[in-house]
Amino acid sequence: MPSDVALNIAKVRERIRRACALAGRDENEVLLLAVGKTHGPAAIRAAAAAGVVDIGENYVQEALAKIDALTDTPLIWHFIGPLQSNKTRPVAERFAWVHGVDRLKIAERLAQQRPPSLPPLNLCLQVNIDGEASKSGVEPGAVAALIEPIVALPNLRLRGLMAIPEPANSAASFARLRALFDDLRTRWPQLDTLSMGMSADLEAAVAAGATIVRIGTDIFGARPPA
Ligand SMILES: *Cc1c(COP(=O)(O)O)cnc(C)c1O
Repeated sequence: MPSDVALNIAKVRERIRRACALAGRDENEVLLLAVGKTHGPAAIRAAAAAGVVDIGENYVQEALAKIDALTDTPLIWHFIGPLQSNKTRPVAERFAWVHGVDRLKIAERLAQQRPPSLPPLNLCLQVNIDGEASKSGVEPGAVAALIEPIVALPNLRLRGLMAIPEPANSAASFARLRALFDDLRTRWPQLDTLSMGMSADLEAAVAAGATIVRIGTDIFGARPPA
């Protein structure tokens, strides 16, 4: 399996390179975030050996076990799942990024619980870009009002936006997220991150300006059904 992971990473990197070339973008503008949920420490270690540095995890307990098993690697951990307020402390203490913030209360707790001895915790706000009732995320029209109080919080660095669009029309959704991002950047020029694109649609996301693509299946293989 480790050699599969290395081969898969090479293929994904090639897809990113090609998508960047098509879009006239520098490939170094796009960070590959390998999403490890349901896969054990050995798979993550194989990704690290193949040069991946950034790992995305969705479940707090599962992630903490892997972080503990891999302290000898230079991995950077991103929390990308839904975050309940009673689980913010270990995330504030052990992760470098949180991609799914969609409420002020969560950001406030992360700010309060982030050890000041660590670099600021990087945050992306999750946007419900297709207005789906079943999905978490801030409505596009409410993002600016959420940014305002968050940028004033200590121990955090607001980096940008994240979304998980409906698969059927993700290209249009990515374009709308990009337009919202450009609009917000006129007011908050420090925003530099668009976290969008997964295994099935990374090319469309890169074309629309993604700076982080979150890839699970095409690196680690299929996951057991939830
Ligand atoms: C699982 C997950 C991914 C990876 O999805 P794949 O389709 O397996 O590449 C990306 N982002 C989030 C938020 C996820 O939960």
